[in-house]
Amino acid sequence: MRDKEKDIENFWAMVKRDNPHECWNWQGVCFHGGYGKLHRRVGGKSKNFLAHRYGWELIHGQIGDSKLFVCHKCDNRKCVNPNHLFLGTHQDNMDDMISKGRNYEIGVKGRRVISNNKISMEIAEQIRGEELPTKELAKKYSLNRSTILRIKKNQIWVGDYAYINIK
Ligand SMILES: [Zn+2]
Repeated sequence: MRDKEKDIENFWAMVKRDNPHECWNWQGVCFHGGYGKLHRRVGGKSKNFLAHRYGWELIHGQIGDSKLFVCHKCDNRKCVNPNHLFLGTHQDNMDDMISKGRNYEIGVKGRRVISNNKISMEIAEQIRGEELPTKELAKKYSLNRSTILRIKKNQIWVGDYAYINIK
């Protein structure tokens, strides 16, 4: 079997697929934020991928542009059903979130931080998977270096956050 075919087979083996209209949940481990986590060795290096993004790329080809995000129509982060996913910019993702009333105020360990709309859980997971130096990441995502570092160290944008809907 060719690598690509094996990859596709391994991917779908981790997904519960029933009705084509319903959510297809990732059966493997998840990131703290709730997105499916896929582990692969790439060029001898161990890497983690966002399962829904990976699945999208298996079907539609590599996205390439890191400014584009695979967003969920269904709001279910575990879902990898291609019918429930759409490719959008960060702004689309945020607009979608806000239109669904998911504009969060975030609190952790007594501290409260209001989301500045530059970042989402998906972006945070993507940043954690990046190998570029902090300085370059800061530039790429238009964030402060300290924010990048705190994300990398799992101090912010982790699943333990209490989400308070501020609508
Ligand atoms: Zn879904």
